[in-house]
Amino acid sequence: MAKNVAVIGAGISGLAALKCSLEIGLHATCFEKGNCVGGLWDFMDDAEDGRASIYHSVFTNACKEMMCYPDFPIPDEYPNFMHNAVFLEYLKLYAIHFDLLRHIKFKTAVVSVQKRSDFSVTGQWDVVTEHEGKQKLTIFDAVLVCTGHHVYPNLPLQSFPGINKFKGQYIHNRDYKNPANYAGKRMLVVGLGNSGADIAVELGRTAKQVVLSTRSGAWIMSRVWDNGYPWDMVYLTRYQSFLNRILPRAVSDWLYERMMEKRFNHSHYGLVPVNKSLRKEPVFNDDLATSITCGTVVVKPNIKEFTETSAVFEDGSVMENLDVVIFATGYSYAYPFMEDSIVKNSKNKVSLYKGVFPPTLEKPTLAVIGLVQSLGGIPPTSDVQARWAVRVIKGLCKLPPKETMINELNEEEGEKKNWFGRSETLSTDYVAYMDDISSYIGCNPKLPLLFLTDPKLAWEVFFGPCSPYQFRLNGQGKWDGARKAILNQWNRTIAATRKREVSLHQESSSIITLVKFLFLPLLLFAVFLAWS
Ligand code: FAD
Ligand code: NAP
Repeated sequence: MAKNVAVIGAGISGLAALKCSLEIGLHATCFEKGNCVGGLWDFMDDAEDGRASIYHSVFTNACKEMMCYPDFPIPDEYPNFMHNAVFLEYLKLYAIHFDLLRHIKFKTAVVSVQKRSDFSVTGQWDVVTEHEGKQKLTIFDAVLVCTGHHVYPNLPLQSFPGINKFKGQYIHNRDYKNPANYAGKRMLVVGLGNSGADIAVELGRTAKQVVLSTRSGAWIMSRVWDNGYPWDMVYLTRYQSFLNRILPRAVSDWLYERMMEKRFNHSHYGLVPVNKSLRKEPVFNDDLATSITCGTVVVKPNIKEFTETSAVFEDGSVMENLDVVIFATGYSYAYPFMEDSIVKNSKNKVSLYKGVFPPTLEKPTLAVIGLVQSLGGIPPTSDVQARWAVRVIKGLCKLPPKETMINELNEEEGEKKNWFGRSETLSTDYVAYMDDISSYIGCNPKLPLLFLTDPKLAWEVFFGPCSPYQFRLNGQGKWDGARKAILNQWNRTIAATRKREVSLHQESSSIITLVKFLFLPLLLFAVFLAWS
């Protein structure tokens, strides 16, 4: 009999997990608290407890060729970067196309997930769900947790002396929806992540004054990158990842900083990161530099303290008559429906093998999908994680022994600290991570073979964007449309912006092409080494 799997959540990750479970012949039921698919992308006028909440003007920061599921491209008529409502439509199309809706129980929250008493033998779980006030217990052979990680606000008030005396209003950006309520006010936005930058720029158009406080700065990237292409089509390539791996760290840091400084000098704008070489997530904002140069946003350092009416910054400057503070200080995540010991290590930190499997479970029948912070879009990442997880659950793939998993985890945590400045489960390098996970299910592109059998495709796979379709070219879950999707990805990108007939320009500059050719012998040598 097919194994019975509970999928918790019907956001990007839950939809991928449900589809991959059904695809492989598992019997899956998805439980979703809300009344719609889409999770975070299902915009709500008011934040709801235990669910992600976004502001009205959120656009994707990955482009449509990089933020789609690998076997379901985003429709041609959609723009390259999508408003949240447009991306939500895509998620609904995906659910309909793969006939997922009938497997989802909406308005049904999972309130408890517990190991059964015979777990060490069966690996089964008692799952309690709640619908319209009524609870129901069901036994499942496996559980896929897809509940998101931008849900619980990080509001570190203890870091801000005097905030209790402050007589104005303060909120976390989770409760910020649009700028209308703040017109004509003096606003302080704390935190220079993507949320803080977006909100400061948006407020700058109507508020009386906007100050953006940052304790460590950030690199600011633009969605529109070289030659007007989406940044991720240009930057997230295997070629780039290969260079990162082979170049000495000092050289790759230098190249990284040069790339980040290409558009404007971050020091001149007071934005430069304290640690320039950390590969912390950049801020994607096309308008922040303009807002600063037009004086609608002023950047200040960290806050020393609040008084009843003002904020004092670490450089001694003061923002007087402050009306509202918006803490755009990020999120934490939690799994309130299960015991901490299932996913947390002895240091009380969530610690998962490859960001997916709790390494100490007696049976590998619980996986977390979508708990990743990389430069790539979440849909392809959740898809590859889910494909791996369901194969492990079905017994088609084996996890290493517990000790090996824990040792690998410790090693990876050290490496993450070195590159990202933090060691926990979330941060990861997109291309390397996707290759790693897909290799467990045999669906990573086989480049040496591809260069021999289909050089045109191999060239695009290596030098072109590491687009999601690459992970459905072969192996488990192969999608027949993947080759065509890869070879047409640039045309689709251009078609999304060029709505007026014009003559075509050359696609890449001759210098870049020359550099690529110079690197080709090096690449072939590396391929030869890997092959032999
Ligand atoms: P979610 O979208 O949070 O979905 C989780 C679902 O689980 C929800 O529907 C929730 O109702 C349900 N749920 C939770 N608990 C339970 C329970 N106990 N029982 C039943 N159901 C439950 N990522 C990108 O790739 N590109 C972007 O451009 C991008 N932009 C972002 C913009 C903002 C403002 C933020 C905050 C994040 C952004 N992200 C982006 C990251 C974002 O987390 C992912 O895009 C994505 O939404 C994660 O999907 P998910 O399914 O893992 O989680
Ligand atoms: P975030 O990336 O975690 O940024 C939080 C910011 O708050 C950081 O700048 C951090 O500073 C600062 N901060 C945290 N604690 C602080 C403290 N005690 N004192 C001072 N500063 C503090 O959170 P986010 O901006 O909400 O983004 C969350 C995720 O959503 C990201 O993955 C992001 O890409 C995504 N997102 C996407 C879009 C989009 O356009 N599609 C928009 C918004 C968000 P440090 O850097 O010093 O830690």
